[in-house]
This record gives sequence, C-alpha cells and structure tokens, in this order.
Amino acid sequence: MGEIDMRALFSISYGLYIISSKDDDIINGQTANAVTQVTADPPQIAVALNKTTLTHQCVKNSGFLDVSVLDQTAPLKIIGIFGFNSGRDFDKMSQCNFKLGINGCPVILDHTCAVLESKVIDSIDLRTHTVFICEVIASETLSKNPPMTYAYYHSDLKGKTPKNAPTYEIFSDEKEDTNSKEESKMKKYVCQICGWVYDPEEGDPDGGIEPGTAFEDIPDDWVCPVCGASKDQFEPQ
Ligand code: FE
Repeated sequence: MGEIDMRALFSISYGLYIISSKDDDIINGQTANAVTQVTADPPQIAVALNKTTLTHQCVKNSGFLDVSVLDQTAPLKIIGIFGFNSGRDFDKMSQCNFKLGINGCPVILDHTCAVLESKVIDSIDLRTHTVFICEVIASETLSKNPPMTYAYYHSDLKGKTPKNAPTYEIFSDEKEDTNSKEESKMKKYVCQICGWVYDPEEGDPDGGIEPGTAFEDIPDDWVCPVCGASKDQFEPQ
C-alpha cells in the first residue's frame, strides 16, 4: 500500500446532517457528515453510520432513515445534543422541534434547510460502519438558509468531531494553533468529553459568558456548549 497523507482526505467536502430513524416506539437521531446523493433517477443517497449507535440499530431494524440538512444558523448546542450524546441514555428528540415523516421517522425542524425521507434498499458492511443505500421517498425545502458545511462547522463554529464519525481520525489529527499565537494571559480549558476548547478571549456568549471571562470565574452551573458536560469535566489545555 502506498503512503497515506491524512491531509489529502481532509480536503474532501462534506455537509452536516442529522440522521434519524425509528425502532418500534423508539425515535432517535445523530449527527453525520458522510451523506451523499449517488443517483438522480430514482433519487438515491448513501449514508454511513457507525455500527455502535442507537440510530444505526433503528435503521437496521426499521429499514428507514431520514436526513435533516443542518443550515448555517445551527448553533453548536444542537450539534452537541445529537453528536456527543447517546440516545440510549438521553432523549435527544425532546430537545428540539420535529415532526414524523410519512415513513414514521422524525425530521428535525430547527436550523434545518431541507429534509429527506428515505427507504433503505441496500447496505454495505464496512466493519466499523455500515453504508446504507437509500431511495428518497419524500423531500421538502424548509428555508433558504445555506446548508452547513463541515468546513464551516470546524472553521467558524470551531466544532469538534465525535469519535464515531468516519472522519474522526482525520480531524482529531488537527492540533490547535497554540504555537503560532503568543501565550494568552488567561488559560484555555478543554472539555474532556468532546474536545471543545473554552477560550477566555471569546467566552461563551450563547451560554451567558462574556468575552474576557477567565475559566475560573465561570459559574459552576455552566455546561459545555457542545456536549453539555459540566464545568468540572474541563482541564487546562
Ligand atoms: Fe464538551
């Protein structure tokens, strides 16, 4: 095998989606980036999901999955809810507005510009992941907001990659640019659960923390904006 430059794979473009499904009376969803349209007539998509997730189990059992396309208004919080928690111990769907599609799977109505409902017609076992080939049976545009790209999520939202994502190793190889910046007076803290970094210069305005707030001065009931971990799960970077 030839040499593998992981940065070459980093140049592949992706969107950011919530994949949802059902299994009897369970409904659940998770974030995913590995979604692509593969044919136009009929419209078919390929979706890669980690085998360990509850959503994977639901898709396997029901044969249906829906894709909610996140748009650029999506805050880290919604990505955190669906990307850094398991539906086995947290009711993700109670945290957002959704409706049930014609296939019985939920589609997310918050910060989504389009939704696709689909039926699984084939699947490919890739050891850690399954690629589901699905025919789109209904779809709807919800807003004119531009879709979130994975690059935008990382560069503008400074989002992290969940361990179950197919791209986890690529993006986890990225290091923070600590060498290039002169050392800040106030220390950055990193969430041990999801890897999000609290930068005192930026604060967490959505969480009520003003820019310029030292980590030590954040109230104890504050939680990680990405995964919801408590303040004591953070360690100095
Ligand atoms: Fe976190």
